[in-house]
Amino acid sequence: MMNLTDMKTIKGLLLRHGFHFSKRLGQNFLIDDSICPRIAEEGNATKEYGVLEIGPGIGTLTQQLALRAKRVTAVELDDRLIPILSETLHDFKNVHVIHGDILQFDVAKLLEQEFSGMKVAVCANLPYYITTPILMHLLESEANIDSITVMVQKEVAEKLQAPVGTRNAGAITAAMNYYGTVELLFVVPRESFLPSPNVDSAVIRISVKKRYEKETRDPFYFFQMIKLGFSQRRKTLVNALSSTMQCEKACILEALKQLDLPPAVRMENLSMEQLVALSNLLCDVEDNENSTKKE
Ligand code: SAM
Repeated sequence: MMNLTDMKTIKGLLLRHGFHFSKRLGQNFLIDDSICPRIAEEGNATKEYGVLEIGPGIGTLTQQLALRAKRVTAVELDDRLIPILSETLHDFKNVHVIHGDILQFDVAKLLEQEFSGMKVAVCANLPYYITTPILMHLLESEANIDSITVMVQKEVAEKLQAPVGTRNAGAITAAMNYYGTVELLFVVPRESFLPSPNVDSAVIRISVKKRYEKETRDPFYFFQMIKLGFSQRRKTLVNALSSTMQCEKACILEALKQLDLPPAVRMENLSMEQLVALSNLLCDVEDNENSTKKE
């Protein structure tokens, strides 16, 4: 097996293939030999699991996943990396590299094709420019994924695992809470990558289990409310929602009253339970208005 954290090996490989890093594609490859085994171990890469990797790069994490998991499917967007991956993963018979953009895949269908009958985990060192779209794409896919263990920018990791109802939380935090629980596993310094990015990173694990599905009357309305409400987080919740959603101020104030919340409260002050309850009340108001209009 090629040692893909050895600088001489990496430089020889990249030179031979005439490869230059693309900043646009978020290419920062791991060169610290302790990190990939740790991600694979924390990320459920065991003989029971099929593992989806997003952005294998030159295959550093892929090798560690393939040593432990039943099967690994790795989706890489950069076509210049495909011949490199054929070389570095040559010895692994349980790896399938697919050339493509993960955001364009029907993830549920892909996982069914690749891992039929297996438990499924996702492990990746994500391209940072599309961290949120990738996480939402995976979670919204309704695919049968047990856990998502990924490297993200440290600040993003802190936001994702911040308790809802605290300053650091945002719409994405509430979305993560809807779909599961997030743990920050460990921090990775910028020197662990080639080229070294301007920020530190952290590995998080999302244990996927829809925790608020039953009590959320209309998930589409809930997601719209948190997206629009948090986009104007400096405003009071009443002003933020009345200017972005088709919601009368009086209705929002009435809903806050029913929830025993003060009129000047902001989105960031609400717990997950309160956000869900608010979306249920406002959604009912909208439904009532629509049925009155029809009559
Ligand atoms: N896994 C490797 C490692 O840890 O060394 C590389 C990680 S690098 C941060 C991100 C990888 O994602 C790059 O190989 C990049 O080409 C790939 N990538 C970027 N956008 C992608 C997309 N939309 N779909 C799939 N792969 C993508």
